[in-house]
Amino acid sequence: MKFARFAMAACALALGSLPASAAGVDKLYILYCGEASATDQSRWSPGVNVGVPIELSDNCYLIHHAQGWFLWDTGLADAVAATPEGVTAANGALRLKRAKTLAAQLDALGVKPADIKGMAISHTHPDHIGNVEMFPNAMLYVQKAEYEWPGANNAPRFKPEHPVTKLEGDRDMFGDGSVTILSTPGHTPGHQSLLVKLPKTGALVLSGDAVHFKSNWENRGVPTNNVSKEQTLASMQKIADTLTKEKAQLWINHDKAQRDTLKMSPEFYE
Ligand SMILES: [Zn+2]
Repeated sequence: MKFARFAMAACALALGSLPASAAGVDKLYILYCGEASATDQSRWSPGVNVGVPIELSDNCYLIHHAQGWFLWDTGLADAVAATPEGVTAANGALRLKRAKTLAAQLDALGVKPADIKGMAISHTHPDHIGNVEMFPNAMLYVQKAEYEWPGANNAPRFKPEHPVTKLEGDRDMFGDGSVTILSTPGHTPGHQSLLVKLPKTGALVLSGDAVHFKSNWENRGVPTNNVSKEQTLASMQKIADTLTKEKAQLWINHDKAQRDTLKMSPEFYE
């Protein structure tokens, strides 16, 4: 990650003052980035809870590192907030809403979009990339396989002029092990998850859509719409191994029940 240019001095000072075990990350905020109602949760876990509806959360995560701000996922487009009743998707199987904008939540923290120098998205579904262009100058970290995955009518997934670093595998974002992109393909060709090591909270894995909610994780359900069942299962195992190795918690983006137990911005995790 080349945040170093603008923050080398600050970084050296900050890192110098931290205990050796602490990472350069000091805060993580969970931002509300939308919500969804689904008519049938077996969409994600075939054969399990068929016909049972589920409410889903949609989060973005704003991370403060000594080298700068880093945003993980951008949620549903802020424009969706203009339609309070929400919009339907997947032939009516999903209703998506955004009760407040990402822009307003950043503003409340005193963070300007231009302050965010680096961002990564878990994958290119619309509930994750809706606000990428709110940050036209932020370096976007995305797997090459996702970037090059043709969209509808062969459309590119991102504006070609958006600065991008195409990854092929895992990436230690700041060179100190505090924030690591984990390649977890299967839901989409270049899906990725994020390992974050916070000094007080400890290690977390932010799932992206490698898994959608707790029972989906426990039964290793593979959504029928995933691009690869084999890769999905291998990615779930990679996450499970990471949780063990790092003694990490798994924060599942769309698990509203879990999210409701967590602190939301402007509160934060250290
Ligand atoms: Zn998705």
